[in-house]
Amino acid sequence: MGSLANDYDRRMPSANYPAPGSRRSGSSGDVRHHNLTQVLRYVRDHGPSSRHDIAHGCGLGISTMTDLVGELRHRRLVRELDPVRRTGAGRPTRPLEVDGDPWVVLGVHLDLDHIRVRAATVGGLELWRDEVPVDLRRLGAPDGVHAVLAVVRAQLGHLDGTRDLVAVQLALPGRVGRGGLVVSEALGWASVALTDRVGAALAARGHRNVHVGAADETQLAALHAARTELDLPSDSIVAYLGGSRAVSTAVVVDGEIYLGASGAGGDFGHAHVDPTGPACRCGRHGCLQSFAGPAAVLVAGDLLTTREADQLVLDQPEKALRLVVEAAAAGDARVLTALQRAGRALGHTVDDVVGILNPDAVVLGGYLGALAGWLLPAVQLETLGAGGPTAFPGTRVVALPSRSGRSVAGALLAARDACFSDPLTLTQRLSA
Ligand SMILES: [Zn+2]
Repeated sequence: MGSLANDYDRRMPSANYPAPGSRRSGSSGDVRHHNLTQVLRYVRDHGPSSRHDIAHGCGLGISTMTDLVGELRHRRLVRELDPVRRTGAGRPTRPLEVDGDPWVVLGVHLDLDHIRVRAATVGGLELWRDEVPVDLRRLGAPDGVHAVLAVVRAQLGHLDGTRDLVAVQLALPGRVGRGGLVVSEALGWASVALTDRVGAALAARGHRNVHVGAADETQLAALHAARTELDLPSDSIVAYLGGSRAVSTAVVVDGEIYLGASGAGGDFGHAHVDPTGPACRCGRHGCLQSFAGPAAVLVAGDLLTTREADQLVLDQPEKALRLVVEAAAAGDARVLTALQRAGRALGHTVDDVVGILNPDAVVLGGYLGALAGWLLPAVQLETLGAGGPTAFPGTRVVALPSRSGRSVAGALLAARDACFSDPLTLTQRLSA
C-alpha cells in the first residue's frame, strides 16, 4: 500500500510534492479515500455506469459501493440517472454519472504575453472563458506574480454564490520543482512560490479550501491530448512532442502526467540526435532542438537569420509558423529540405522514446502538428523501417492539428482531476 500511494503521488498531475509525513499511511480512512477516488475515476472514464460495473471495475464489494456512492451523492459528485431495465430478470438499475455541478474548477495558462482562463464545473460544464493581455516576460518575477494574482482574483467575480471554487490549476512556461517552486527561464522566474501565493490570495477572499496546482504547459497539453483527443483508453501511455517556441515534450503514463524526480520528466527536447550537429542554445551540439526547433527550421530554410528567427519565434510564434507553412506549401526547396532534416531528427528521437517507453501513441502536437504533413514521412522513415525495437509494432504515431488553447484545456482537466483525487478535502456534504 505504501509504495502504491507513493506512485500515485508521483503521477498526480496537479499535486505539488507532498510534504514529508503527508503521505497516506494505509489506515481504514485512507482505504475509503482511495476507494472513493477509484469510483470517481471509473465514472469519469467510463461515463454512465451501473453500480455492478463500477464495483467490478474497481474490485469493490456491493455493500462497500453503497456507502461510497452515498457519500459521493451527498457531495453532488455523482448522480443517479433514470432507471434502465436490464435484459432478462432483475430490477431495473439506475446508472451513475459524474455530477460535480456545485463545484467550480479553473484552468489558468500563463503565456508570455497573455493569461488564458477557462472555468468549468467538476462535471465538465463550461462556465466561462477569459483572456487577459499581460506581458509576463517584461514584468519579471514580483510584478508578474502580482499580475497573475490580479487575474485570478478577477475570476472570482464570475462566481454567483451558487457554486464553490474547489481547484485551480496553473499551466506554466516552466516547471514546478521540489517544494512546489516555479522555475521559468522564459519568464525570468528563478524559484517562485506561485501556488502558495495563489492559495493565499484566494483564502484572503474567503476561498480557503481550494487546491492550487501547477505544471508545465506542455505536460498539461499532453494530458489533454492523451485523455481527450486520441481514441485511446484513459490509462494509456503517450509521448507528446509539441510546443510553440521550441520543441517541448511530455509523457503521460496511465492517463497522468509523468513528473519524474524533479518535475521535468518526459523532457526530451534536447535528445542528443547527432553530436556533430549544429550548436544548441543549451551549450551542446546536435540536440533535437537544434534541428527541429522552429527557429532552427526558419534558419536552415534560409527564411531568416538566426537573430531574426529567434526574435520572431519569441514575439510571434504563430507568425513564425505561418512563414514556414507558406514556404513549404509553395514548394520552397530549402524549406522542404530543412523540414526533412527536422523530421529525421524527430524520427531518431521518437525511435529512442518508443524503445524506452513502449507507449500506445507518440503524438505530434503544437507547431509540430501543424507541420506534420512535411515531417511525418521523414519521421516514419527513421522509425517504422527495418523492424526496429520490439516495442514498435503496437505504437501509433499520430499528428494532431495545431490547436491553440490545449494547455489551458489540460489545466482544466487537471483541476477536475484534483477534485476526483481528493473529494473529501475539497468538497463538503450538501445533504444529510
Ligand atoms: Zn540542447
